Amino acid sequence: MNQVPFDSTQVFIGGHWRAGSGGETLPLFNPSDGRLLAQIARGNAADIDAAVNAAQTALAGAWGQLSAAERGRLLLKMSALVLAQADELARLEALDVGKPVKQGHADAVALARYLEFYGGAADKVHGETLPFAQGYTAFTLREPHGVTAHIVPWNYPMQIIGRSVGAALAMGNACVLKPAEEACLSALAFARIADQAGLPAGALNVVPGLGEEAGAALASHPGVRHVSFTGSVGVGTLIQSAAARNAVPVTLELGGKSPQIVFADADLEAALPFLVRAGIQNAGQTCSAASRILVERAVFDTVVAQMAATYRSLRVGPALSDLDVGPLISARQREIVEGYLALAQGSGLQVAAQAALTPDIPAGGFYVRPTLLAPVTPGHRLAQEEIFGPVQVVIPFDGEAEALAIANGTAYGLVAGVWTRDGGRQLRMARRLHCGQVFINNYGAGGGIELPFGGVKHSGHGREKGFEALYGFSALKTIAIKHD
Ligand code: NAD
Repeated sequence: MNQVPFDSTQVFIGGHWRAGSGGETLPLFNPSDGRLLAQIARGNAADIDAAVNAAQTALAGAWGQLSAAERGRLLLKMSALVLAQADELARLEALDVGKPVKQGHADAVALARYLEFYGGAADKVHGETLPFAQGYTAFTLREPHGVTAHIVPWNYPMQIIGRSVGAALAMGNACVLKPAEEACLSALAFARIADQAGLPAGALNVVPGLGEEAGAALASHPGVRHVSFTGSVGVGTLIQSAAARNAVPVTLELGGKSPQIVFADADLEAALPFLVRAGIQNAGQTCSAASRILVERAVFDTVVAQMAATYRSLRVGPALSDLDVGPLISARQREIVEGYLALAQGSGLQVAAQAALTPDIPAGGFYVRPTLLAPVTPGHRLAQEEIFGPVQVVIPFDGEAEALAIANGTAYGLVAGVWTRDGGRQLRMARRLHCGQVFINNYGAGGGIELPFGGVKHSGHGREKGFEALYGFSALKTIAIKHD
């Protein structure tokens, strides 16, 4: 219990730390050994109401009075503090999420970079003057929505907080953040950093709790003017319905079944590290994980053999040992992934390679063996459904048209990667892939602070990251002045 250097059982509302109003707590478990790690507050509807009120008070007070440049400077201060505390944040994330330390460290650095990017951009978002009727001057202003809700999952808390809360604060909104009940220590550490940086009280409020309690109360709160949700498709649709009753815009960042497509003319040596890493990073619990690898038949056996060799060399173990792959977040998540592996076995899918677990792995941890399945048919459930574990399927194809049909042939459309030296094909594929981001001869699972990110189809709608997020977290007002 003393592995967490602060009291994790409190909510942060209006600049104050206090117990949740129901007085109850929820347990957090360390995924690396399955043992109790800490308790967090079980925030409820009354806490959410208090947080929304505190955010409204901040907008009417000190926070609302700041200029864009002053908001930017505060974000830059938070960025510097995050960087200074990156080692400690990485350790917390290792304990809480089961993320190998270097991956947690990369998340902390990304959080700092989001705050730097949005801090620098805060005073560079402007409206336009519009040609209009004779005798008028017309222009647009970008204004904050007001109170924004941020409901985030457990897999990349720091990065998701950076891209949504960072952009919302830059535009002058006041935020209520509901982190995931499975992992929320870095969200609490982030609130401490905001406080340390001097962010005015109520500009950021953090209420941990259960999704169906605190999360549902936040998504449906009439004082909230924008909802940013990152998580599963099922919950995303509930959030959108709840927000619709208040006629409030939502950003949904949902799941994926993202392909990397390898043509026979590709630089295979360059592709290989991206093919595997983008599948097993964060134990495959990445919305933009490259969980499908499509390979042109002429190089299929070569690519599978090379990926299989990499799989056999992967080291899987406790997060603090900082190996290639850590545990899954929970026993429940492991059951889901094991269910898919049983289905693969039951339907006769061939295991091309499986990584071994390190011999002294803690018995109570939530580990699965990273598994490469090849060949898999495009319609198989393992090639269609988001597994959210370190499992990749390899699918053979013949020619560009079939590659496109397979790539576009799932319910999702988040990210795609294309490996080819043919310039014309690069452009054709980029235009025809139905998704939110395309990487040519590279692949960024979760990366790219500057690059707008989001999905189509069941992967969601709205964009975060890059400048685009600043437009999403603001409302456009048009002003027309008649002067003669
Ligand atoms: P989840 O939908 O179960 O939970 C996400 C958040 O929603 C948590 O904070 C949870 O408490 C809250 N929540 C749950 N039920 C709620 C309700 N009824 N009302 C309001 N809030 C509620 O998702 P998860 O299992 O934690 O995360 C995994 C999913 O997230 C995967 O599908 C993954 O692809 C997706 N994801 C997407 C992105 C992206 O950027 N597109 C990034 C990370 C994860």
